[in-house]
Amino acid sequence: MKIGVLALQGAFREHIHKLQALEVEASEVRLPDHLRGLDALIIPGGESTTMGKLAESFDLLQPLKAFTREKPTWGTCAGLILLANRAARQKKGGQPLIGGLNITVDRNFFGRQVDSFEADLDVPALAQAARPEDPTGPFHAIFIRAPAVVEVGPQVEILARLPENGPIVAVRQGHLLGTAFHPELSNDLRFHRYFLRMVETGR
Ligand code: GLN
Repeated sequence: MKIGVLALQGAFREHIHKLQALEVEASEVRLPDHLRGLDALIIPGGESTTMGKLAESFDLLQPLKAFTREKPTWGTCAGLILLANRAARQKKGGQPLIGGLNITVDRNFFGRQVDSFEADLDVPALAQAARPEDPTGPFHAIFIRAPAVVEVGPQVEILARLPENGPIVAVRQGHLLGTAFHPELSNDLRFHRYFLRMVETGR
């Protein structure tokens, strides 16, 4: 199994380290050619406008659209924004998006008063891929100027919300996974294992 991590900008190294900890071959994707031979892709957190514009100028946007239509792809934070079909409250013309997830995201949903925060999330789906050595119970999630998912289409499975029936922060639609937080910064491999299982089962 070989997994690419989009490495135009943002927290791509941390994802690569997590994949290496799971003994999966990981490579950085900067050019269309780098997508060749990959089984799956991770789009990291960072700045979604910058990443989208860089992808456009490296002629990577169309190849990314083609790849993510077919192969398992996981977007974290800015990566979730890029995988969304719609971003709320965008200026005319908006920002370049890859799309695929039938959701609307709201960037910087949590505003300035809580730029960054941590929360314990109940994510029942993680049990499917967890190993005995993994932590049990809630997933300790790190949010950094995070988006939230404010609308979901009927095909979209809601994997996690903030406590007390709060905003949606993790979704899955078939082979596409999106998290508003940064599992690559948590000391917990369960989300990465969950994604690897999606890749293994070809969905
Ligand atoms: N606020 C950023 C954006 O809109 C996302 C932040 C992140 O990826 N940590 O792209």
